[in-house]
Amino acid sequence: MATVRLVKVNKIYDGGVHAVHDFSIDIKDKEFIVFVGPSGCGKSTTLRMIAGLEEISTGDLYIDGELINNVAPKDRDIAMVFQSYALYPQMTVYKNMSYALQLRKVDKEEIDIRVREAARILKLTPYLERRSRALSGGQRQRVALGRAIVRKPKVFLMDEPLSNLDAKLRVAMRSEIVRIHEEVGATTIYVTHDQIEAMTMASRIVVMKDGFIQQIGKPNEIYRHPANMFVAGFIGTPAMNFLHGEVTDHDTFKIDDTKFEIRLTLDQQLLLKNYVGKRIVYGIRPENLIYEKMEHFNELKDYVFEYTSTGCELLGDIINVHGRIEENPVILKTPSIYNIPNNSTVRVAINPEFAVFFNETTTKAITPNNNQYEEVERSGALYDDNITIVEEEKSGIVNFIKKTIKKVTNKKEDNKEEVKEDSEE
Ligand code: ADP
Repeated sequence: MATVRLVKVNKIYDGGVHAVHDFSIDIKDKEFIVFVGPSGCGKSTTLRMIAGLEEISTGDLYIDGELINNVAPKDRDIAMVFQSYALYPQMTVYKNMSYALQLRKVDKEEIDIRVREAARILKLTPYLERRSRALSGGQRQRVALGRAIVRKPKVFLMDEPLSNLDAKLRVAMRSEIVRIHEEVGATTIYVTHDQIEAMTMASRIVVMKDGFIQQIGKPNEIYRHPANMFVAGFIGTPAMNFLHGEVTDHDTFKIDDTKFEIRLTLDQQLLLKNYVGKRIVYGIRPENLIYEKMEHFNELKDYVFEYTSTGCELLGDIINVHGRIEENPVILKTPSIYNIPNNSTVRVAINPEFAVFFNETTTKAITPNNNQYEEVERSGALYDDNITIVEEEKSGIVNFIKKTIKKVTNKKEDNKEEVKEDSEE
């Protein structure tokens, strides 16, 4: 039994980098939690604080209800598996797995039981006497997991453990780790930048960006009900399509720069009742755009658009079609039996049941519990893309003005020089 609780944990590195902001979560016993987000968002820092490898600047960390901020890493009863397996190449698989237990003076018979049990779970029994340098990448990674398993820790921490493996092996190891987790049953926290790993492995996902938690939820919740545009765009490939525009009437959404309007369903009208006359973003995933030759197209005749394809990516069973609804870039996904030639104009229907809506200014999802119109981001954990863009634009304008002033000043200086030179002549 192991629960992990973080309460408003912050990390500010010595140089002043605020890497993690007010990170709070209650992790239940036996959960498989995945921290996911782009590089530099603070995933590893958070994991390393849990492991005790990095000091917590402010906030509290509890394991099984016990405050452990100041407990040494070796006394936290945690095992960590890294991206690099760091095995002892000369040692056998058995020795690699048993070594840490030997150092801890665990009874020899007990060590033998634990190593053989871990080898069984990891399907490493035939390799126990083989030296680790003679193993494949996937087998080495399993030995690294075995070293963690034999210690019977309360909590497993894994930092991108699959990123050194080739794509095929990664897929195989994904399901292996899930199976191992189910068999061992220990609380696990797993860090990755790969949203597919997060979706396929996690019981709950924590999406992070720039040190802030964006959303915590089950994979399906995060996919179907993203909390903001960042999460909507980060989870799912190809990314969700965003159509910017305005709720022009209680039942109509008008896409920018097009003649097209999307009818809002009754539920959507209710959801967006405070947004009439306001700008929003209509989010629709590529698989929820239905090509005219597909089944169910005719049921969606009120939601049909002209779509111009500009390029296709064949992925075997499916095709990602890149194209536009007038000037708006839109990607759709179709089974590869359908062929949409490049630069052709076809009809496509939106399946409105799967649409999600965002406040354009705050980028937050508009949900039944959060559908009051708001213009500026409330201070809080959720990061705001648009504010950054505005800031960037602002700083661009400021730089432009500064440059212009400099130019004018230089010109004046040049003139002065010329005048000086003239008068000297
Ligand atoms: P991730 O694991 O999501 O890629 P990290 O947790 O490694 O991100 O890093 C989060 C932020 O903290 C980044 O901006 C990174 O540059 C910074 N950072 C990480 N380690 C240190 C350190 N030892 N000193 C200063 N800044 C650091």
